[in-house]
Amino acid sequence: MRALVKLAEIDSQARGIDDRLKGIPAELDERRAAVRALEALVERQRSTITEAERLLAQQDNDIASRNDALSKAKGKSAKARTMREAEAAERELDSIRKSIKDGETEKERLREKIAQITAALADPTKTLDEQKAELAASEAAAETKLGELRAERERVVAGRDDYAKKIDKQYIRLYDRLRTKLTPAVCEVVGETCVGCRMQMPPQRFIQLQRGTEIMQCQMCQRIVFHKDVLGD
Ligand SMILES: [Zn+2]
Repeated sequence: MRALVKLAEIDSQARGIDDRLKGIPAELDERRAAVRALEALVERQRSTITEAERLLAQQDNDIASRNDALSKAKGKSAKARTMREAEAAERELDSIRKSIKDGETEKERLREKIAQITAALADPTKTLDEQKAELAASEAAAETKLGELRAERERVVAGRDDYAKKIDKQYIRLYDRLRTKLTPAVCEVVGETCVGCRMQMPPQRFIQLQRGTEIMQCQMCQRIVFHKDVLGD
């Protein structure tokens, strides 16, 4: 019984360490996902800026060629010989001037848009840089912590086989079956009450339990139960 209690203790500690071994990477994964989401958001905004800058450059080109067209149209206007030609040239000049003005308006709109997004990006960019730095630090710390936990687990389970050897195979099987369903699978009975399910034990069985001559299960929850007197010191 003593060996079984020890075994259960080792398994319970190992399970606790296993939970932490799993918990650390899971927590990091969550944080990585959050950083990636923020990164994607910032990236999208940055590509909107790039696109606006491309359109801005295009407007510059368009305006330059409209200015060329304007010079040519002015030449034509100067050479106009009839009223009709002069009017036609004037209409063309107006149309070109208007399209240049439209281009300038569009450039102004694009510049405002770029300025707006750039300003809105300042905070998220700062947050992203901070989160990335924190994540990198946590990842490094996690490596150390995982190493420590693995070493701790090795220490905890070191004596397990020795205890297991002392226990009858049938009880090992019983214990292994129980521990897939019950945590803990082995528990103490305190003041005639099973700690696992709070069920009171019949006095006769409690006396038997205190003797510790056989492996006993709680009649209610099926856990393997023991009395601390059986453990000795
Ligand atoms: Zn019980």
